Amino acid sequence: MNNDCLFCEISAGSIPSDKVYESDTLFAFNDINPQAPTHILIVPRAHHATLLDVEETDHEVMGSIITVGNQLAKERGLDKSGYRLVVNCGEGAGQSVFHIHFHLLGGRPMQWPPG
Ligand code: AMP
Ligand code: ZN
Repeated sequence: MNNDCLFCEISAGSIPSDKVYESDTLFAFNDINPQAPTHILIVPRAHHATLLDVEETDHEVMGSIITVGNQLAKERGLDKSGYRLVVNCGEGAGQSVFHIHFHLLGGRPMQWPPG
């Protein structure tokens, strides 16, 4: 737990969020500024600033994020229409909250390459 971290505070429940899933090791909630009809953030509870800080001991929770993302996507019919599971790593890639999180985006047509 990092007291200066927004997502650690959301994990602890001291800042409210619109949660859609939670377990001992991770949680997921609707993004406050959605960029698509479905825009969920999937977040490991352990504080790591960026994807670069992930270690071997985090592999299990990182795998769970894919499983939970698949489950949330299927519940919303996104397995049929397609979706993205995206991590912004570092300021240059658009990261603004420095507690690792995966964006699950879907429900509208998407372009490639991303902006
Ligand atoms: P990133 O720019 O990749 O670090 O993503 C951070 C995301 O967190 C953005 O999509 C924000 O809209 C979202 N966000 C920031 N504060 C909150 C909050 N209090 N509740 C839900 N989502 C948030
Ligand atoms: Zn944190």
